[in-house]
Amino acid sequence: MSVVTRFAPSPTGRVHVGNLRTALHNWLFARQQGGRFLLRIDDTDQARSEERFVTAIRADLQWLGLDWDGEVRQSERFGLYEEQFAKLRATGRVYPCYETPQELELKRKVQLGRGLPPVYDRAALNLTDADRVKLEGEGVQPHWRFKLDHDAPIVWDDLIRGPQRFDPKLMSDPVVRRADGSWLYLLPSVIDDIDMGISHVVRGEDHVSNTAAQVQMFQALGALPPAFAHEALLTGSAGKLSKRLGATDVDHWRETGTEPLALAAKLARIGTSLPVEPVTTMTPLLERFDFASFGRAPARFDEAELAKLNAQTVHLMNYDQVAERLPAGMDARAWEAVRPNLERVADAADWWHVVEGPVDAETAEEDRDFLRAAVDAARTIDWGGDPWHALTGALKESTGRKGKPLFLPLRRALTGREHGPDMAALLPLIGRDRALARLEAAAHG
Ligand code: GLU
Repeated sequence: MSVVTRFAPSPTGRVHVGNLRTALHNWLFARQQGGRFLLRIDDTDQARSEERFVTAIRADLQWLGLDWDGEVRQSERFGLYEEQFAKLRATGRVYPCYETPQELELKRKVQLGRGLPPVYDRAALNLTDADRVKLEGEGVQPHWRFKLDHDAPIVWDDLIRGPQRFDPKLMSDPVVRRADGSWLYLLPSVIDDIDMGISHVVRGEDHVSNTAAQVQMFQALGALPPAFAHEALLTGSAGKLSKRLGATDVDHWRETGTEPLALAAKLARIGTSLPVEPVTTMTPLLERFDFASFGRAPARFDEAELAKLNAQTVHLMNYDQVAERLPAGMDARAWEAVRPNLERVADAADWWHVVEGPVDAETAEEDRDFLRAAVDAARTIDWGGDPWHALTGALKESTGRKGKPLFLPLRRALTGREHGPDMAALLPLIGRDRALARLEAAAHG
């Protein structure tokens, strides 16, 4: 069977981490299986859908490193929905209903009051043609429900949740079309999944009860339902996906200097039994992607952990991966020197300023003589090899200092900072002339 997956966002807002994760899983699985990954824009709700969100969704997926093999838009497919709807109508699997929302609410209250499940009572099925003509004559337009088959339980073997079983008698026949003719999500999604040849539907577990109804819609349209994988939702550090995290879009990740690969590494593995590890390409993520590794408990998305993973990711990145984001003049050697100290690629610029200077160094009085000796040593050592070890070796011998009292005043004088990249890597970048000037400035105050 050839694998075809899809990501089906509604363009009514930006995609947040939960959606990005779903998109990523669909992509990883399709790529792992040599299948196809499609983008479907669920824009049947034309009042709430906006073109700028369609543009943003594409850009956000690209930012994460996802590509897709085709794109369809539901708003261009109303003809197909109409056709399939007519089939369901002809076979009696959709039927017109005329209740107002108030009437339905009243029925629910009565049922709940009697301790009964609030399931739609199918009263509309008892209307005669004459009743319908009368209602429509009074200007009441029908909405349409899909008639569930009550005869057999709805079952599927969910790739994440395992065997699922629903009793259709305990479910309301879902409304699939509104009185104004507009479509609700359920039916067009099934029609598209059939038409697009979707083999696996991977989405959040908030869709499980939709799936129960949709399984019968596939069957009613003469198709075999696809495989389903419903993933547990993400929660924030505080227990549930906070409003803020839910509203966090790719702009936030860009602004915080989060690497797409760090976010992908996190989202690929969060909530699974596989370790969350930094990666330099998507390959290890797609090679080990496995629905069987997904847990059923909600996964906690912790931004502090992501920041750590981001730093680890940056530490693995090659110069070629970052070159265009570095300040002019910063070469591969400089990148490698500062990389282990970075939390974000953008911070490389700070260290480049340290290399280029000027630096603002404070010198303790008791270090002045030592730094004068450092100036002398710096004049005589060989700058072509390993100047840091040459310099500290010479000073150790001439001053007897070692450890922190040897290294720290030099680091302060040369970089203006207490901490930073390995001086052995940094000093050759600073070079003889700038180093001498900084040591002299520190020695003489
Ligand atoms: N547009 C639906 C949503 O965003 C798609 C769900 C699905 O994957 O079928 O929830």
